[in-house]
Amino acid sequence: MLIERFLHYVSFPTMSDESSESCPSTEKQLALGKELEKELKELGLDAHIDEHGYVYGSLASNCGKGHPSVAFLAHMDTSDAVADSPIKPRTILYEGGDILLNEEENIVTDALGEEFIGKHLLVTDGKTLLGADDKAGIAEIMDALERLIKSGEPHGDIKICFTPDEEIGRGADLVDLEKLGADYGYTLDGGELGGIEYENFNAASAHVIIKGFSVHPGAAYGKMKNASLIALEYASLLPSEEVPEKTKDYEGFYHLTDMSGSIEHAELFYIIRDHDREKFEAKKQRMLEAAKEINARYGENTVTVELKDSYYNMREVIEKYPHVLERAEEAMRAEGADPWSSPIRGGTDGARLSFMGLPCPNLCTGGYLFHSRSEFAVIEEMEKSADIVLRIMKDTAKYEK
Ligand SMILES: [Zn+2]
Repeated sequence: MLIERFLHYVSFPTMSDESSESCPSTEKQLALGKELEKELKELGLDAHIDEHGYVYGSLASNCGKGHPSVAFLAHMDTSDAVADSPIKPRTILYEGGDILLNEEENIVTDALGEEFIGKHLLVTDGKTLLGADDKAGIAEIMDALERLIKSGEPHGDIKICFTPDEEIGRGADLVDLEKLGADYGYTLDGGELGGIEYENFNAASAHVIIKGFSVHPGAAYGKMKNASLIALEYASLLPSEEVPEKTKDYEGFYHLTDMSGSIEHAELFYIIRDHDREKFEAKKQRMLEAAKEINARYGENTVTVELKDSYYNMREVIEKYPHVLERAEEAMRAEGADPWSSPIRGGTDGARLSFMGLPCPNLCTGGYLFHSRSEFAVIEEMEKSADIVLRIMKDTAKYEK
């Protein structure tokens, strides 16, 4: 049963840890990984967990070769934004208004939209996150697999991969695509029912280093170069309207995430984001030009900029494989869900995987308000999301490779 599965999975605390150098970043993720390996084997899949905590499963086609091999992926770790245990979920029938999560501590979720009225919600006691991100995805994949096998209906090769450390941006790092052996795939890590996400930011980081020159302030005339002030001057050369708090939808930004400075030395840390590849490249160029301008004012090598690309918009890849989207949309309609899509203002493991060679859009799970103590999941939407996964699995039999 889907919800029992979900409740079982969220009982495993699996917070990842950015400061850790190992993979998985936290030991505790392995406990869930081993459980999933065991369950996949019990369902009859060829499954194993590797030394980095990645769980692979494979269900061979029961209707011959020639059909596409499709992968389903979800991540096991949870965000470190809120505590991960003990998670005490409860089900409520939402009738409107604020949701009182915790009476003792007066922790409240603000009223949800009317579309949630009459739905059954899984909520927390306000002290932890729920873990629907992404254990809803895991539970839906497992539930669909179980039902697929029980049904005895035809299907092509089905591949499963549960990854650690997605929340710290490393989930796709050690996925072995050759071992997975899929033609295309879907991450189950989205929210509202019907969501198919295939556009994300192009992303880079920039490290700006400013060299100053320190002299006693009383004797500084014409000599001192104050690195901190030059850093501010550098920042002022970037467009002040193109920042996260003033942009939305397809608008990109420069985001100053950290800074430090003395007279001799200053540093600025930026992240650069844009859905459009050309605009993204232009933003990086602009950062270099700002450095040139400062160097013209204060001398060569006063400012250096180190740019590093982080990930790219998967739309570039997905556009070459439109059937990957079309098949998901068709499955959604067949299950009575309206497909919708909007650009992700962030990244996703699917983007990395797409550029590694596995076209991989992201599908809905029915979870909401991720990374928060107000995180909740809509049971009706989780059930539909699992139905959609099952439909995509069965549909493999009707397509040719
Ligand atoms: Zn997630």
